Amino acid sequence: MTDVATYDGRIAIIGDCSGRDAHQTVDCTDMALAPGFIDVHSHSDELWLVDGRALGKICQGVTTEIGGNCGTSVAPLYGEARVRKARDARTYRLDVDWTTFDEFFGAVERSGVACNVASLVGLGTTRACISGASDRRLEREELDAQTQLVREAVEHGALGVSSGLIYEPSRYADLAELSACAAVAREAGAARYVSHVRDEGDGLIEAIDEALAIGRAADVAVRCSHHKAAGRRNWGKVHRTLATIDRARSRGADVAIDAYPYVASWTELATILPDAIRRGGEAATLERLRDPAIAASTAMLLQFARDPATGGDSWHDILITDTGSDRNAAFAGYRLDEVAAHWRLSPARAAIRLLVEEELRVDCAFFSMSEDDVAAVLTADFCCIGSDASARAFEGPTARGVPHPRTYGCFPRVFGRFVRGRQLFSTEEAVRRMTSLPAQLFGIANRGEISDGAWADLVVFDPRRIVDRATYERPFVPPEGLRDCFVNGTAVLRNGDYTGARPGRVLRGGQ
Ligand SMILES: [Zn+2]
Repeated sequence: MTDVATYDGRIAIIGDCSGRDAHQTVDCTDMALAPGFIDVHSHSDELWLVDGRALGKICQGVTTEIGGNCGTSVAPLYGEARVRKARDARTYRLDVDWTTFDEFFGAVERSGVACNVASLVGLGTTRACISGASDRRLEREELDAQTQLVREAVEHGALGVSSGLIYEPSRYADLAELSACAAVAREAGAARYVSHVRDEGDGLIEAIDEALAIGRAADVAVRCSHHKAAGRRNWGKVHRTLATIDRARSRGADVAIDAYPYVASWTELATILPDAIRRGGEAATLERLRDPAIAASTAMLLQFARDPATGGDSWHDILITDTGSDRNAAFAGYRLDEVAAHWRLSPARAAIRLLVEEELRVDCAFFSMSEDDVAAVLTADFCCIGSDASARAFEGPTARGVPHPRTYGCFPRVFGRFVRGRQLFSTEEAVRRMTSLPAQLFGIANRGEISDGAWADLVVFDPRRIVDRATYERPFVPPEGLRDCFVNGTAVLRNGDYTGARPGRVLRGGQ
C-alpha cells in the first residue's frame, strides 16, 4: 500500500507516511486514486463567471478544463465578436466587461472557480473581431490585425488556436489564413492548432487532410476535436482517418484527437442550413428565412438532404435541447419530427419556423454516429477524452433546457460503458486518456500525474462501480462511484458531497 501526502497544494510524499501527522487523511482502501481528469474540450468559457462551482464537471472528477474550442473563445472581444458574446451572455444576465484574455482571466480569479481553467484562442472570434460576419478572404492588413490578436492572446496565456470550420465566420478562413494564425501562435510560444474540422460527414477525409496540411504549413501540433463520422452513409470512415493520423504520427507529425463516449453530437440547429442561406451572418440568414419563397426552397433542400433513400438520417435523430427564448422552451426534450407533428408542418418547415422564431438560437443533439465508430476512436492510443460540454450545475442559471448528458456523465461513462462494458481498454488506459495524455498534448504543466511536486489534483473512485447516470431524457443526474475530488490539494467533492470550495487556478500558458 502506498500513501500520497499533499502539502501546500502539491504532492509532497509518495510512499510510506505511517507515523506522520496529517491535517486530514483520506482512506482509499479498495478504491482507485488517480490524477484529476483534464477535460480538453470544454465550452464553459464565460460560464466560469456565471457559476464557478462547476458542479457538473467536479462530479465527474474533472479538475482542469480547457475552453475556447471550436473557433469560439471568450476573448479577444472587439467589434462583432463583442456583440455576439454580449448576446450569448444575456441568457445568463452576465455583463461582458472584459476585452482581452488578461482581463477575463483576472475576472475568473476574482470570482473563483472550483476547477483549474485554461483556454485556446478561437479563430472565429479573432476573425469576427476584424471583419465581422463577412464571408470573404481577408485583406493583407486584416490578416495582420488578426494575427496580432492571436499573438496577444498567446502572450496572455492561450494554449494555442482553435478553429470551428462549420461555424460563422470561422468557416470562411482558408488554409492560408488558418496557417498564418497558427504560425504566429507558434512564434508566441503555443504551437497548437486545434480544429473542429470543416466537415465531419461526407467530406471528413478531406477535412482531416486539411487539418494535417495546416499543421505542416505552420509547423504546429494538430488536435482534431470530437473526432467522428457523422451520418449513416459515412459510418466506418473513422478507420480511414485514424489510419491517416497514424501514418502522419509515424512520420513524426504531432497529431492527436479527442472524443466523447456518445453517439449523439450537440450543436446549433442552424448548422443544417445550406451554405447559401448561412452566408453573411445571422441577420442575413434570418432575412432569407423570413422570405416565403426562399423558405420554401430551403425546406425542399433540407428534406432532400435528409432523405433516407440517399443515406440521409431521419428527422427523429434530431433532439431539441434548448431554445434562445422561452417561447418554444417547452420543445426542449422533443424530437424534430414531434415538433413538426405538433405544428402540422413538414419537419423541414418546422425546423425553419423554430429557427426564425428563436432567431437561430436552437441547440440540438444529433444522433448521427455509430457506437462501433465511437469505440474505434476511443481505442486509438492518441485519443484523449473531451466532453465538448460546458460546466453547468444541477440548478440555477446554467441548468437550462435539457443539456446533452455528456455535460454530467462523459468521464464516468468511459469507465462504465467502454472499460467494463465493451472492455476496450483497461482502467489504467482510460485514466491515461484523461490525465497524462491530455496534459502532454495541450501543454498543461505539472498536472495529469501523481508525481513528486506535481499539483495535487486527485480523484478517488471505485473502478468497479463508476458509471454515468445522466441520460438524454434526464441529464441532471450525477454519476455514481466517484467519491472524492481534490483541486490543488483542496477537497471540492468529499464522499460525493460538494464542499463549495473554489480552489481552481487559471493556467496561463498551461502553468
Ligand atoms: Zn465543435
